[in-house]
Amino acid sequence: MEYFALIDRQMVVRSDGAPLSADCLSLLEAQCDVTDRFTETANGIEVVAMGNADVQLPDGYEWRNIREAFAQLGTDGCFHLARAKALIEWRANTKFCGRCGHAFDNHPTLTARLCPHCGNLVFPRIEPCIIVVVSRADGKILLAKHVQRNQDIYACIAGFMEAGETAEQAVRREIREETGLEVQNIRYFGSQSWPFPSQLMLGFTAEYKAGDIHLQTDELADARWFDRDSCPASPQPGSIAHRLIHDIK
Ligand SMILES: [Zn+2]
Repeated sequence: MEYFALIDRQMVVRSDGAPLSADCLSLLEAQCDVTDRFTETANGIEVVAMGNADVQLPDGYEWRNIREAFAQLGTDGCFHLARAKALIEWRANTKFCGRCGHAFDNHPTLTARLCPHCGNLVFPRIEPCIIVVVSRADGKILLAKHVQRNQDIYACIAGFMEAGETAEQAVRREIREETGLEVQNIRYFGSQSWPFPSQLMLGFTAEYKAGDIHLQTDELADARWFDRDSCPASPQPGSIAHRLIHDIK
């Protein structure tokens, strides 16, 4: 069993580096504002939702950024942390049936909410997104600076899939909408759960086909072609964006 205490983008860790235990969670529950506690036996996690990231933690505990933790965890650790993070958000946002408005119960055996009034059964929601690095015949790659988030870094083109689309159609649409470029040879690269709050990032590579860069200025502040060896500040290790930019040769 792995134990987590989380809120937003922060997690509680022990200052001595040891993993949290059930007793740690009980201590946090006794001394801090905790809004939820649950166990998912099938995936081996027990989780508390911290109520306030500004709270003074008990001696021997400190806050740590979840994204930084992702960069250092292995595959299983990332899964457990991502699962814990996603379920906290889902449980907090899924309290009433969207069909009839009655309060949900927890399903007795599944990680799901069940409406006792109309039988509506709801599972944790995942929002698929595409993320793509576009390359040119000269080896340069397209990176873009977003208007609002992560203002100082250049990142891959990314966006939410729309209902009815294939992932490849979403890749074409996002690149066309945000930069005006056409691409070809779209290939699947890999995926990453990105629970901020509930994205599944589907990574792709694509080749430039035609067009000049015309920015969608409400989304992008800049988009340019860069050599892979001399990219500007780009996403942190631990993200699929980092792998797309740095791991492909
Ligand atoms: Zn209902």
